[in-house]
Formats: sequence, C-alpha cells, structure tokens
Amino acid sequence: MKTDKNGLFPAIIQHANTKEVLMLGYMNDEAFKLTKETQKVTFFSRTRNEIWVKGETSGNYLNLINCKLDCDQDALLIQAVPIGPTCHTGTSSCWGETNLRDFSTLEQLIQTIDNRFSAPKEGSYIQALIEKGLPKIAQKVGEEGVEIVIEAMRNEPELFKEEAADLLFHYLILLRAKEVTFDEILGVLSGRIKE
Ligand code: AMP
Ligand code: ZN
Ligand code: ZN
Ligand code: ZN
Repeated sequence: MKTDKNGLFPAIIQHANTKEVLMLGYMNDEAFKLTKETQKVTFFSRTRNEIWVKGETSGNYLNLINCKLDCDQDALLIQAVPIGPTCHTGTSSCWGETNLRDFSTLEQLIQTIDNRFSAPKEGSYIQALIEKGLPKIAQKVGEEGVEIVIEAMRNEPELFKEEAADLLFHYLILLRAKEVTFDEILGVLSGRIKE
C-alpha cells in the first residue's frame, strides 16, 4: 500500500449491495487495521488529526464487507453496508440522495433457485416443484397470475403484496427452468426503452 507523505491513503466507500459511492475518507495503517479487526470502517481524520470510527457519535456506522486495492496500490475501495445515512448532512451519500434500489434480496433469491436446480435439497419447496416438471412450474406461474389479479380487485394491501411476491418467486423459478436468465429479460426490456 502506497501512502502520501503523512502516511495516509484515500478510501472510497461503496454500498456493498447498491454499489452507490457513499463517501471518501483517508486512512493510515492503524485505521485500516482497526477497520479489519472491528469490521467497522475507521478513518484517520485529517482535520481532527485522530482515528475516527465512522458512526461513533451519530451511530451511522459502515459495516465492512470487502476491500480492494486499485491497480497501482494507492487507493482503497471499501464495500460496506451502511447503518443509516453516511453523510453527516443526513443524505445517503456525500454526493446527496441517490436512492439506488437494493437488489440484494433478488440476487440472493436467484442464487438460491439456481442452487436448488444444480443440487437437490431434501424438503425444499423449489426442489419439489422442480421434480414435478416444467409444465407444473409454468402452471404455478399461471395460478399466481390469477391470484394477483383477484387481489388487485380487492382492497387488502398486505394480501396483494403476498401475491405479488408469489408471482415474482414462481416467475424466477420458471425462468431458471427454461434456462433463461433474469439479465436476458432485462435486456429485452432495455431494448424497448424509447426515450
Ligand atoms: P460520525 O462518525 O458519523 O459519528 O460523525 C462524526 C463527525 O465526523 C461528524 O460530526 C462530522 O464532522 C464528521 N463526518 C461524519 N460523516 C462524514 C462524512 N460522510 N464526510 C465527512 N465528514 C463526516
Ligand atoms: Zn491508483
Ligand atoms: Zn458528507
Ligand atoms: Zn399466491
């Protein structure tokens, strides 16, 4: 790790899930060591001239997920999951409110479904559905499609959300059964965007 004449190096903080750039801070060896030991991103404050655990007064900590050096070892990329807004002005990032959507649950679900297709798991709902075959999976999507339509006509927001979740879940299983990736579907949609 190359440092400047004060023993500092810049650390770019990125949201591990949304990939949003949250802030830039400086670290010295001690701050970096503390970051790894405590899993809480820790800087060296150039104005206060001291070690600074991000969030120590606000509670808005940055939980370390991963870190990576750049090509010439003079800048660090830190991926973290923030607890609350990262900027002291109250916005999610130091460049304002970006509001990127957190797709990590969707990513995780796609991964789980993929795992069930490649390695059978006893007692798993997805596994049982896979065993019944493609027509049954496709039929389930149809059923959930009907259920969401029925809930759309009623005024039960929680039940509507349940059916919306069921539909997305079974839709993802169907995609995997057809060996079509979610990215390919996004590609089709992106090709239709006119503006
Ligand atoms: P915190 O570490 O969040 O408890 O904040 C402690 C102090 O560090 C704040 O009062 C600010 O002066 C400063 N600070 C916190 N977050 C940031 C940030 N994202 N960028 C620059 N300074 C910050
Ligand atoms: Zn560099
Ligand atoms: Zn800020
Ligand atoms: Zn349902």
